[in-house]
Order: sequence, then C-alpha cells, then structure tokens
Amino acid sequence: MILTQELKKVYRNGACEVSAVRGVTLEVLDGDFVAIVGPSGSGKSTLMNVLGCLDAATAGYYALDGEDVTQLTSDGLARVRSRKIGFVFQNFNLLPRLTAEENVALPLMYMGVPVRERRERAEQALGSVGLYHRRGHLPAEMSGGQQQRVAIARALITRPPLLLADEPTGNLDSVSGGDIMRYMTRLNAEGTTVVLITHDDGVARKCRRRVEMRDGVIRELRP
Ligand code: ADP
Repeated sequence: MILTQELKKVYRNGACEVSAVRGVTLEVLDGDFVAIVGPSGSGKSTLMNVLGCLDAATAGYYALDGEDVTQLTSDGLARVRSRKIGFVFQNFNLLPRLTAEENVALPLMYMGVPVRERRERAEQALGSVGLYHRRGHLPAEMSGGQQQRVAIARALITRPPLLLADEPTGNLDSVSGGDIMRYMTRLNAEGTTVVLITHDDGVARKCRRRVEMRDGVIRELRP
C-alpha cells in the first residue's frame, strides 16, 4: 500500500530551514495496521501529510498503492487523495452546520454521486458505526466519541483502501477512545489498511505494528 525510500521534507521559511523528515524508508503492506509513535516535534504529522498526499516531499520516493506520487502536481495529488485515502483527525473536523448524515455524504457530493445514492450510502455508513439514530443531529449535539465515529463514517464512505488517522483518540476519554480503536480494528479486519499517529502507548499496542519516529527518522519497535 505504501512504499517510501529516503523520504525527506524540509520546511523553508525565508532563511530558516527545518528538516522535519530526514530520510524515511517505510513499507506498509495491504491490510496492515501500523501505529506511528514518538515525541512531539519528531516529524510524525509531517510524515502523515506526505503519506496522505496533502503535502509533497522535498526529496525521496513515494509510491501509494503502486502509483508513484512523487512527481504529481497538486491536482494529481488531490485525485489520489480522493480515490485512495480516508482521513480521521484529532479534532474530528466535521462541518458544524451540517447534520451527521450530510457530513458523511460530503465526499460523495464532491465525486458527483446522485443525491439519493448519497443518502443511502451515508445512512449505511452511519449504521456501521452505530449512529443511524443520530443521523439528523448536528456535531454540537453529539459527544466527542460520537463525532469521531461520524468522522470515521465520512472517511470510509468512498471505500478507500487506506485510512490515515492523526491522533484519532487524542481528544477523547479512554472509554470513547477504546470505542474508536474497536471500530478501527474492525475496519482493518475487513481489509482497510490503517496507519495512525498516537501519543498513547495503549492505543499503539492495539495495532499490529509500531514504528517510532525521532528527529525525523523512524525505527521499527518490537511487538
Ligand atoms: P510531530 O507531529 O511529531 O509533533 P511535526 O511533523 O508537527 O512533528 O513537526 C516536525 C518539525 O517540523 C518540528 O520542528 C516543527 O516545528 C516543524 N514544522 C512542522 N510544520 C512546519 C511548517 N509548516 N513550517 C515550518 N516548520 C514546521
């Protein structure tokens, strides 16, 4: 699913340069479930942004699902993102004025799926995270854990092969966080490749594989 070689990312602000990712070679097989752990500032989010085709690497090679994405333009990256990747963020990133169902259906709208099919698929996706009964509610009317389940339904509605999650349990209490990890584990069992960033060792240990990032480089941790 993911193959990188000597991936690097340098931020340049005027005369100031920050090497956030300093040569990452990583292979994630189809169906894997990987946690990226490491201290704050070690480059985890930067790596995730590159893996998620939200940002281009400065140097190195990256193939996603067999496609070399290293040389793609921003339009090309957007196309790969919408076809291949679902995103889940720490702050849920739901649109506050849309209902749960409308939030979940949004990626299908961008893909031009007809309204009736959008509704049916959104209801089904909400059902799969146990929130069919909350489909008409606004995000502010739901708990953090419920909002994150809506975000998971939204990430998966296009049936992407890869789910990227940046601190998905970071804003949740341990019970809701455990709930989210159960949904992620189930999705993984159903075939979705999952890569998540976490500060929480308990969360990381629920994943099949742990990779630690420090000062922009990675190393594999023992199971
Ligand atoms: P983590 O997710 O592990 O906390 P980040 O990837 O956010 O780490 O940051 C890695 C390094 O890159 C840090 O030194 C951070 O200050 C720097 N950095 C992150 N984003 C930017 C940016 N847009 N411009 C300049 N420096 C950045």
